Amino acid sequence: MLRDVLDGSLDLLLGGSCVGCARPGRALCEACAAILPDVGRPAWPTPAPAGLVAPWAVAAYAGTVRAMVLAHKERRMLSLGGPLGRLLARSVASGLAGLDGPDGPVVLVPVPSRPGAVRTRGHDPTWSMTARAAGLARAAGQDVVAMRLLRSRAGVLDQAGLDAGARAANLAGSMHCPAASLRRLRGRRPRVHLVVCDDVITTGSTAREAQRALESVGLSVVAVAAVAATPRRGSPTRPDPPGVLGPRSLLNAEGFD
Ligand SMILES: [Zn+2]
Repeated sequence: MLRDVLDGSLDLLLGGSCVGCARPGRALCEACAAILPDVGRPAWPTPAPAGLVAPWAVAAYAGTVRAMVLAHKERRMLSLGGPLGRLLARSVASGLAGLDGPDGPVVLVPVPSRPGAVRTRGHDPTWSMTARAAGLARAAGQDVVAMRLLRSRAGVLDQAGLDAGARAANLAGSMHCPAASLRRLRGRRPRVHLVVCDDVITTGSTAREAQRALESVGLSVVAVAAVAATPRRGSPTRPDPPGVLGPRSLLNAEGFD
């Protein structure tokens, strides 16, 4: 994509370095890009919110992938939108394959940012990677679009520092699908399956709230797809040495769902 080339040129001009290995140059060097995971896997949180549809992710939220998510989201390293969109596209593809392929068109729905967060950050990172993932699926011949069907109500707190129960309570009823968005969807695609998209799955409470809001207006949600999932506490795939920086402290420090 031209946009990726331009973003990459900007990285060089601005004296950037790879978020994975710190080598000077692009925000993600070819060597680090080449070893990114390429298959989505089920990413059930423990405990999983009741009724959550199958969640998928391509990576543990650690190492290069974590650095990519944070740099894109908080430091506006927009050239990472392309690689993150590719990871999300793989997660979506694995989620849809796990259903034996839904019949009919698919709409990718990003979880909405908190009001004000987009203004503060200057961009909407989850929408950006969701739109790219839909573009990649279309390029592969699939009937997939991305639509911002959800809005976040005012009054939702930043999730940082909240435990799983407080997060779920904070989010309950916090999202809705405006009537105009629903009409637009029905006009374009009367019978669709939806995939809720996010950057990181932690407790699953954000994805579950998005699913609830979409189902409450009669829509069919078939999967959740994320780039990464916070490793389970005590999981053998947990990347952090014990006592250094466990999944809960990542969650508290960064406020993912
Ligand atoms: Zn690198």
